[in-house]
This record gives sequence, structure tokens and C-alpha cells, in this order.
Amino acid sequence: MKTLKTLSVVSAALLSNMGYTQAAGNANSKPNFVVIFCDDLGYGDIGCYGNPTILTPNIDRMACEGLKMNQFYVGVAISTPSRSSLLTGRLPVRNGMYGDKAGVLFPNSKAGLGQDEVTIAKVLKENGYATGCVGKWHLGAFSPYLPTDHGFDTYFGIPYSNDMSPVQNKGRHAAKFPPTPLILDGKQIESEPDQGELTRRYTEKATDFIKQHKDEPFFLYFAHTFPHIPLYTNARFEGTSKRGLYGDVVQEIDWSVGEVLKALQQNGLEENTLVIFTSDNGPWLTELENGGSAGPLKDGKGTWWEGGFRVPAIFRMPGKITPAINDDIMASMDLFPTFLTMAGIPLPKDITLDGVNQLPMLMEEKSSARDEIFYWWGSELMAVRKGSWKYYFKTIQDQYLRTVKIETPAKPLLYNVETDISEKFNKATDHPEIVRQLIQVAENHKKGMVIKPSVCDLISFE
Ligand code: MG
Repeated sequence: MKTLKTLSVVSAALLSNMGYTQAAGNANSKPNFVVIFCDDLGYGDIGCYGNPTILTPNIDRMACEGLKMNQFYVGVAISTPSRSSLLTGRLPVRNGMYGDKAGVLFPNSKAGLGQDEVTIAKVLKENGYATGCVGKWHLGAFSPYLPTDHGFDTYFGIPYSNDMSPVQNKGRHAAKFPPTPLILDGKQIESEPDQGELTRRYTEKATDFIKQHKDEPFFLYFAHTFPHIPLYTNARFEGTSKRGLYGDVVQEIDWSVGEVLKALQQNGLEENTLVIFTSDNGPWLTELENGGSAGPLKDGKGTWWEGGFRVPAIFRMPGKITPAINDDIMASMDLFPTFLTMAGIPLPKDITLDGVNQLPMLMEEKSSARDEIFYWWGSELMAVRKGSWKYYFKTIQDQYLRTVKIETPAKPLLYNVETDISEKFNKATDHPEIVRQLIQVAENHKKGMVIKPSVCDLISFE
């Protein structure tokens, strides 16, 4: 692994080299996990990833005190599949949370994440963890698909995107959608809640959960509703950034991150809690100023260019994770096996995982356990990455004109996404042997793939 240390913390390095799993078996020493998961936050939307006009001091501090990942990938660059991947450690084609007609779940979807799928929360709960989910779920809006049906003891949030409402959305079916529910555990407690208060209310629930469970191991999955559109922020944050409303919304999320870190610190939990900050997919660029930025990466959400699949990701656990910048490849689906290994829980034998354990990379400064990324869209494999090379079977164009065109490239398309991070220079002619190798990697991957029937395509009106 090539890393640049941001701080020289010798004691942290020594501790990390002791390995984490030594502590497994002692309930009191089991690590806590907090995942802070933004919606549509792009690679270029926070200070430590280069944004000049959105100020994110709390997230930047997390990066200085932790591991900032420069090549971190989601399962698919859109909400429902991405979330399913993080929580099950499996690609959406394997867990069913993809669609060829509908890319995500809608309020008129007939189902959600199947009970035959196993989430991180379910396994941790079975092993004595307290489990809490706050925010956007998007893996099913009614029982038996809610967070409380999938291993979470508690849930507070809007179960899908904040634009899927007859009030907020002018889309095709919006008038037929029910008013947006705010759910507490399994029950709706409000209809069309004031979205300007959501981040504050989510943050209060998240910090309360931490305080309530400070004496037992816990997993908190805190999935923000924003900066997905329509953008809303608390009045306290309006006009606070030079980046307009989008920047104000991200700055409120940064405040929220600070509150979570403060709650951990005040309860003496910092050194035993792995906190992760990341996003479900790249920026929604067709929303123009109301969408984010992928920084130097090409395109954004809903595409398989790097700006769609690659997101910011920061891992912090003082004394266990050595502060550094890491340029290895990691994926959100790696969290499932990594968390279980940290907690001393054997990986389920009867489940095919696409994620790999990254504990040696995170805590022992070893190389990543993965060098491949598979870019699925619906039931089709669109591109493949191995090492620094990425090959496209299909491309997607004209997102900005909202006339999405999926095309088979006229000539082979091969990019070195490490030397050419913006995917500008096609190197297929120079490296036909690498083209052949990547096609073979994709063939081998597809050969072992059992594609589950699509859940997202089960909708009740067209
Ligand atoms: Mg999203």
C-alpha cells in the first residue's frame, strides 16, 4: 500500500500493528461501528477532497485523524442498489436490488430487500450488538422490508428519497405517490415532515442512540437524506456557504458529523468506535447548481464513469487506524466482512459475498485485498477495472441533456484511471493485451454470477 502519512503518530502505528481481532471474544472490548452515509454527495464536495467553497471542518478533521481513501467505490452509482450493496456485502445483481426498468425503489414498488438477504445489522444483532438506523433507507417502505425487519432494533427516518412525494416531485407518477412518511421503528409518525428540520432531528436521534448504548457494542447506520434534491437546510445554515444552497446543506451535514464525533468523545467511545463517512453515489449533475461536484472525475450519479461510482470515504478510529491518505482500491461492500472480522464474528458460510475483509489495509498498513471493480448497471456489466486499468463494454452519454443514451463504443475503450483520473485518453490501441485481459476478467466474473430476479422492477403502476 502506498500511503502518505498526514500525521506521524507512532503510538497509533504500534497499536494498529497489534491487530484488532486479538480483542475478539471480550464483549466489553468489541468495537462499535458508525457509518455516516450521505445521499448524492460527490467526490469534489468536501474540503479535504478539494472543494474550495464548501467548508467542512469536522469532516476534514476526521480525515486528518483517520484514513482518507482516494479510490473508494460503491456497488452501483444509484441509491437503492448502492445501499443494498453496503449492507449485504453483495453486488445488487446478486441480492436482487437492481432494475432494468426502475433503477431504484419507488413509493409504488411492490417489495424490498428480501428476507433471504442478510444485512450487517442482522449479523451484529445476533452477536449481541445494539443496532440503530437513522435516515434514508430505500430498501423497502413497508414490512417486511423496513430496517426493523432487517436487523435494526430502531429506525427513524424517511424510508426513500425525499423527492418521491406528490408535494416535492413533479415527475411522471408523483401525483399518485402517497405523502412522504416519517417512520419511527415500524410506524408512520408524520406525513410530509418539514425537511428543513430533518438533518437536525436525525442528528439528535443518532447522538441519543450513542448515549443510550455506550455500555454495550453498537452499530449505528446514519444515512442522511441530503444533499439529494430537493435541498433543504435548517435556517441556521442558510446562506452560510459561498456555494449556494447546496453548500449550506453540506455544511449542515458537516455540523452533524461534528455532533456525532462529540457524542463519541463525551461518552469515552472514540478509541473503540470505527466511524466511516461516505456517500451512496456521485453527484446528480443534471440538477445543475442543486447537484454536487465529482471534482476531477468524469460525470456523476447514474453513470459508470468514475464520477458516479467513486465517492469520498474516510475511516477514523484513533489509536487503531494510523492517520494517512490511501490510494488503494476499496468498495463499500467490503464493510460487511471487515466489520464482522473486527467483531470476531465468522463470515456466514452459506452466503456468497462480493466484499472482502479490508482490516489488514485499514489497521495494519497492508495492501488492499481487492484490485478489481465491476461496474454493473441493471442486469448488465458495463465496465471492469483491474489494477489501474478500466475497460468499457458500454458507455452512457448525454446525461446533461437528460436524453440518456447507452452506447456500445465504436472502438475499444481503455483508460488508466490512475494516471488519467478524468478518463480522457483512450489507451486501447497501445495496450491490446490489457484489453484482452480485462475482457477475460469480466468473463470470469460473469461466469460465477447467479443473477437474482429484479426487485426494483416490481412496480404497481407504470
Ligand atoms: Mg443517492
